[in-house]
Amino acid sequence: MRIILLGPPGAGKGTQAVRLVERLGIPQLSTGDMLRAAVAAGTPVGLKAKAVMDRGELVSDEIVVGIIEDRIEEPDARQGFILDGFPRTVAQAEAFDAMLDRKGLKLDCVIEFKVNENELVDRIVKRAKDTEARGEQVRRDDNPEVFKTRLEAYRAQTAPLSAYFESKGQLRTVNGMKPIDEVTEDIKKILGR
Ligand code: AMP
Repeated sequence: MRIILLGPPGAGKGTQAVRLVERLGIPQLSTGDMLRAAVAAGTPVGLKAKAVMDRGELVSDEIVVGIIEDRIEEPDARQGFILDGFPRTVAQAEAFDAMLDRKGLKLDCVIEFKVNENELVDRIVKRAKDTEARGEQVRRDDNPEVFKTRLEAYRAQTAPLSAYFESKGQLRTVNGMKPIDEVTEDIKKILGR
């Protein structure tokens, strides 16, 4: 299966992606995680992306499309994957469509997480606290100021993707404000497994 999880930061995409990985046995491809790894490793991509990510803005389409193109070629992604945080612009979605066409692959569906944006800041603050309590390093962009920019980027650049996928008949939605287990069940119903 090839699935895209769509929704603003803090909507629960990552949490559900981890459950899907366990259930479906296909990898979670998070461009955010890949970019953070590139930043930590100090690669050329990481060096370009760091400041942009720290501001909460979007990294260039060219960089993320290149990362995804390479990643879906890896053996573990041959049977399918769960995209978390990609695509984030219409240009990325179009490039991804063209990429799948070239490879003769098909997207199964896009699951959009509908959330109440006012509650997202609280979720992010909680995520940062929980991470700290586990003794792990808190994401540099998980703070209320940068979060505002991330949400604005979502509204301006990513939200138009709902209509894009809707027009292609690929969009399904879940209520991301429900408890985690209920969202998992709703996703199971959509995917039929
Ligand atoms: P995330 O972990 O998905 O919240 O992503 C963290 C940051 O990585 C974002 O705020 C962006 O700066 C960058 N990023 C992740 N995925 C993308 C993408 N598909 N397009 C552009 N920037 C991205």
